[in-house]
Amino acid sequence: MSLMGQMMHKPLLISSLLEHAERHNGDIEIVSKRVEGDIHRANWKSIALRSRKLAQALARLGLQAGDCVGTLAWNGYRHIEIYYGVSGSQLVCHTINPRLFPQQVAWIIEDAQDKVIFVDSNIFPLIEKLAPMLACVKHVVVMAARENMPRESALTNLLCYEELLDAEDGQYQWPEFDENTAASICYTSGTTGNPKGAVYAHRSTVLHAFAAALPDAMCLKATDTVLPVVPMFHVNAWGIPYAAALVGCKLVMPGPHMDGASLYNLFEQEKVTMSAGVPTIWLGLLNHVKANDLKFSTFKTTIIGGSACPPAMIRTFENDYGIEVIHAWGMTELSPIGTLGRLKSKHADWSTEDKQKLLEKQGKSIFGIDMRIVDTEGQVLPWDGKSPGDLEVRGHWVISSYFKVDKSPLHDGWFPTGDVATIDPDGYMQITDRSKDVIKSGGEWIGSIDLENVLMGHPAVHEVAAIACAHPKWDERPLMVVVKKPGAEVSVAELLAFYEGKIPKWQTPDDVVFVDELPHTATGKIYKLKLREDFKNHKLPTA
Ligand code: AMP
Repeated sequence: MSLMGQMMHKPLLISSLLEHAERHNGDIEIVSKRVEGDIHRANWKSIALRSRKLAQALARLGLQAGDCVGTLAWNGYRHIEIYYGVSGSQLVCHTINPRLFPQQVAWIIEDAQDKVIFVDSNIFPLIEKLAPMLACVKHVVVMAARENMPRESALTNLLCYEELLDAEDGQYQWPEFDENTAASICYTSGTTGNPKGAVYAHRSTVLHAFAAALPDAMCLKATDTVLPVVPMFHVNAWGIPYAAALVGCKLVMPGPHMDGASLYNLFEQEKVTMSAGVPTIWLGLLNHVKANDLKFSTFKTTIIGGSACPPAMIRTFENDYGIEVIHAWGMTELSPIGTLGRLKSKHADWSTEDKQKLLEKQGKSIFGIDMRIVDTEGQVLPWDGKSPGDLEVRGHWVISSYFKVDKSPLHDGWFPTGDVATIDPDGYMQITDRSKDVIKSGGEWIGSIDLENVLMGHPAVHEVAAIACAHPKWDERPLMVVVKKPGAEVSVAELLAFYEGKIPKWQTPDDVVFVDELPHTATGKIYKLKLREDFKNHKLPTA
């Protein structure tokens, strides 16, 4: 018989992260720009006390272990209290993206059977309309003090967040339970069909927090001041609210104020050292600092993921502002972190240019995530950095099934991500496309990300999407949909000529169209399905 380890066993519960933050880093600040526009200052100690009060309030409302609690809220201290108060008391925190269509919001609330919905006051009109139709919703709690509650509302089940907390004393002991219990649910944005729920466990969330904080992941430290631009309704803000409690760093929460000017002021006032978000949000910030000739005084590192980060954006951050960009890849089904662009010691004497090229990729796996690429028959492909295949992953924080869906999503024990990627001999993964967006030209695949990255390097281009356009000979050929920078002038021929020498000639797009703006999904990705629909009758000059 094997000798068993003789160590204490504590289940990996989310409440333990908060207990640690309270006891060991209680005075570290959580600063929030509120919906009302003012700045609110809290710390891990006050957040912990109020989270316990919230747990008491939820019990008083009659919620029971396993019940789901929805949130429609921006990044702020009350949302953090809900994360911990809900999951810590064995309820399930269901973050909902307020940018989804109202029908989708209603659909996922019903699917999760949310009993209570917490809502920021400026999102309240959305739930005010939906709640009367949602039988499962017993209470709507507006995340505000009494004086900021909606003046008039037909809702009869409306509660005030601060009043709920004021009625409790915070004398509450976090319960201990199985670490595999559900802690939170996040639905995929689902551009086709209904959204699907990923149900995270306490164990997977705590392990993800450990891994996310590691030096070769986000490298979160107690000396950091972190401003997550990525919303708390987008895969738990990439786990930052948990990892921050684990390392005891200061958090700065922007609320709904995500325009370039508001973000810049917050970065400067609160001495933010690091941040994380999708590429589109950085376009706004970079435009603002450029237009006003500003510099950052403390901002050192940003994690960019959620869609491919154009190399031109990495260069601008690094060369113009001295900010290191870490390119990361993940997805809702992965809690979300899978890979990050970090160097190995063997790269120390590589040229700057070669290092930059390597770090433009989506990066290498962190411990806890394994990956492979397979061909259309499911055969495993080599790691040669050239053969693109369907990317599959497995690990401690990858879903094994979707909420309430019987059919397993797994292929041979691996989760098929729907992304197409190459992996090089050193394990660096590069996404070439979403499999649905790949441009299939005469039996060959053209990845849209490469085509987009080239034009993002052109000074006149603000944003760009490559889409497949029907072609009588080649089936599909690339069409570039471009938004010009304000005031910039450029022709189709100039943009097509810009590809010369940068990609294989046969991949050069067949045409460019200019639009005023690109459609985005609720999580800030370019909505390619809509673009393909919009340009389905576009006639290519080569056709
Ligand atoms: P979501 O579940 O909304 O977070 O979306 C996950 C998807 O976003 C992935 O499957 C990828 O298609 C895409 N994605 C995330 N990060 C990156 C990245 N760094 N580069 C390219 N695509 C990305």
